[in-house]
Amino acid sequence: MKNNNSQKNQKLRNDIILAVVIVFIAAAGLLLFVLTKQEGSTVAVKIDGVVTDTYPLSENREVSIKTGENDENINILTIKDGKASISEADCPDKICVETRAVSFVGETIVCLPHKIVIEITNEKTDDQIDVAV
Ligand SMILES: [Zn+2]
Repeated sequence: MKNNNSQKNQKLRNDIILAVVIVFIAAAGLLLFVLTKQEGSTVAVKIDGVVTDTYPLSENREVSIKTGENDENINILTIKDGKASISEADCPDKICVETRAVSFVGETIVCLPHKIVIEITNEKTDDQIDVAV
C-alpha cells in the first residue's frame, strides 16, 4: 500500500515537471518571437509575385500602384511614420484597405483581386552593419 502511494506521488511529480517544462518552452518560444520581431526598413511591392518597387520606410510618401492590362486597377500605398498601409483601392473586397498598417519584417498587406502584396523587408545598405546576435 505504501509502495503504491509513493508510485502515484512519483507519477504526479513527473506530470508536474512535464507541465512546467512545456510552459517554460512555450514562454521561451514567445520571448524569442518577441525579441526577433524586427522593425523593417523597406517596403517591397510585389505584383503577381514579382517585386516591382521598393521604398524606404523612413520617408513619408504616397505611391499609386497600377495593375491590370490597362492600368485599370489602382491601389494607393501610403508610407507614414515608419508604417506602410493601403489607403485607397478600387478592388471589390477592400481587404487591403482594411488591413492595419505594417512595420515589422515579414508583415504583409495583400490585395488578392489585384494580385498585389506589400511586404516589409529589411534590406541593408552598406552603412547599416548587421549586429550579430
Ligand atoms: Zn484590395
